[in-house]
Amino acid sequence: LADRLEAAWKKLRGQDKISQSNIQDALREVRRALLEADVNLQVVKEFISEVEAKAQGAEVIAGVRPDQQFIKIVYDELVQVMGETNVPLVQAQNPPTIVLMAGLQGTGKTTATAKLALHLRKIDRTCLMVATDVYRPAAIEQLVTLGKQIDVPVFEIGSDADPVEIARLGVERGRAEKFDTVIIDTAGRLQIDADMMAELARIKEVVQPHETLLVVDAMTGQEAANLTRTFHEQIGITGAILTKLDGDSRGGAALSVRRISGAPIKFVGVGEKVEALQPFYPDRMASRILGMGDVLTLVEKAQEEFDLADAEKMQEKILAAKFDFTDFLKQLRLLKNMGSLGGILKLIPGMNKLSSDQLQQGETQLKRCEAMINSMTQEERKNPDLLASSPSRRRRIAGGSGYKEADVSKLVSDFQKMRSLMQQMGQGSFPGMPGMFGG
Ligand code: GDP
Ligand code: MG
Repeated sequence: LADRLEAAWKKLRGQDKISQSNIQDALREVRRALLEADVNLQVVKEFISEVEAKAQGAEVIAGVRPDQQFIKIVYDELVQVMGETNVPLVQAQNPPTIVLMAGLQGTGKTTATAKLALHLRKIDRTCLMVATDVYRPAAIEQLVTLGKQIDVPVFEIGSDADPVEIARLGVERGRAEKFDTVIIDTAGRLQIDADMMAELARIKEVVQPHETLLVVDAMTGQEAANLTRTFHEQIGITGAILTKLDGDSRGGAALSVRRISGAPIKFVGVGEKVEALQPFYPDRMASRILGMGDVLTLVEKAQEEFDLADAEKMQEKILAAKFDFTDFLKQLRLLKNMGSLGGILKLIPGMNKLSSDQLQQGETQLKRCEAMINSMTQEERKNPDLLASSPSRRRRIAGGSGYKEADVSKLVSDFQKMRSLMQQMGQGSFPGMPGMFGG
């Protein structure tokens, strides 16, 4: 068992590097996760080959396997591609800020218009909504109703007017009445349609919006990519709102939209209600898309807990024979913080064959050591020889920790054995704790 622990410690010290061979399975899993999240196939291919190239040779952090580390790198890259932080709505130097909503029919444009207006109202930005969808029956009424609900005015002149003209007049009204923001809701079609695109382009030319937001239904899946490309090429978008994320969609469309247009997702829609709008956060979306929260948590935990500088100091101490009970306790806590011993050892290849009895025993031993060290004075921790020569000290510690004097004696002698073994090794590699795991 001591050999295995030695191997474990080598791993914990992070001697691995990511290479083509040790991430094959992880690559396959990441590809599958992205496709399942409905990221566009082409986007998946490009993204993965980029990350793979970037990850080659990366150091694997202590306590995790190369493939797990790779998944963390994928995650970080996803966050980066999606913009790292939330990008808020543009605010024009000279109000009103003009926002043009674009997107297919049924994606949630009208709902998003109201959601956005409510969001702005809450941060004290006054809003005028403009209803230009003259095609769908009751589309104007829908916006008017929503406006009443959230107490935001709607500019409309009926369904006989020309949408471009409505938009122009709406912006004029917004300017005259000193609204902070004018949001123009537009008509969609079930599919990309030349007439719709032409009309949107004309509205855009006439109102010169500060923001053109593409509203994308997260359930659109693979199609989100083509959709984004067409809208971006023909209209030019400055951002997007991803709707219906309250469904089962894993949100892969977010990555496609961003990769293809370069424009940030600014908000996400998470329900039918007007309140159901949230700022878009790349990190949250990245974990949702990847769907590997467990691995990410593990790697993050390991990263937090294992301070490399600390590890190096520890090695110096070992070499200088200054490794004491305080350091030992630190090591024990490190193991504990990183999760149960069993959990950690299982992550290390070749270490997963320990029986649960053995693991249980290891855990118990760790707890026992910690309890006894906790009952030592600072002086005793620094100088284990004090304990070797003083039965009364050992008895006191035994009493304080609830163990027997014999247990304390064993801890002290094990510790001394371990320390001299470490010094013999000379290289500072941690040989494990002989005897302490019943090995
Ligand atoms: P438009 O045709 O693009 O204007 O789409 P609408 O705003 O009329 O919305 C179409 C349907 O999608 C409506 O039934 C909305 O209630 C619904 N909807 C919009 N956004 C969301 C959302 O974020 N989540 C859910 N579950 N439904 C939404
Ligand atoms: Mg609509």
